[in-house]
Amino acid sequence: MDSSPTQTPREKLEAWLRYYDDLNLGAFYTDRRTMGKRTIRRATENAPAAPPAMQEPNVIAPPKTASPASVLPIVNVPSLFEAIDRVENDTLERIREDLGECTRCRLHLQRNKIVFGAGNPRAELVFVGEGPGHDEDVQGLPFVGRAGKLLTQMIEAMGLTREQVYICNVVKCRPPENRKPEDDEVATCSPYLYRQLDVIAPKAIVCLGATAAQALLKTKDSISRFRGNWLEYRNTKLMVTYHPAYLLRNPNAKGEVWKDLQKVMALLGLQSKKAAR
Ligand code: URA
Repeated sequence: MDSSPTQTPREKLEAWLRYYDDLNLGAFYTDRRTMGKRTIRRATENAPAAPPAMQEPNVIAPPKTASPASVLPIVNVPSLFEAIDRVENDTLERIREDLGECTRCRLHLQRNKIVFGAGNPRAELVFVGEGPGHDEDVQGLPFVGRAGKLLTQMIEAMGLTREQVYICNVVKCRPPENRKPEDDEVATCSPYLYRQLDVIAPKAIVCLGATAAQALLKTKDSISRFRGNWLEYRNTKLMVTYHPAYLLRNPNAKGEVWKDLQKVMALLGLQSKKAAR
């Protein structure tokens, strides 16, 4: 394990925790606040097995064949990384304050407004996009451009309003020319997203596109590996579907997205008000 003299104490701690995680020693850590309340996480009994790259730290697959007596019990402890991401008594206001007029990555250089997120802070459903585009950068609000209008239609087709859900992005500043955020930009910004999700504690998260899915599932796998299946992010059901911007370019994929959203509606006990266009 590398330890450089220029590392901050937090970076050193992270390096050690990463080392323990790599050794699969995460389970030695116990969060005292939740001790004794943990259960094995499983998206659904019949859900397809998650790809191996996603099984740690977010998804713990149940043992397949061994009898309960022959294996160590699977204790659903948080990943060490989850534990250090968590902030006691956190609130959305505090997260926004901590973000401040952020200059932590190069995206701040060309941004106009930080796009923190919008909607119901107690939402049962959170949509996570990639990063602000031009209109979002101007208004400081997520999904208000063309893709946003389509997202609004999708939300309304689910029988909800934008005010009832929460909408945010992996990166809070617009990447120049709407390029994909770089890995280091995602790594810098995603702790704020994790905190937002911890505070809101929704029943379900919908990842819009690969960037959101990869950031939350900590994988580089392609969206085709997990789109349309229930997965888990820190004990919360997570559905990955296509980004509305992709749907604007590929309207034929709307049917697939509608099927994904219907699974979310079933979980939340929602009835459609109108068919998705
Ligand atoms: N695309 C995104 O991913 N997020 C937005 O807020 C707008 C467009």
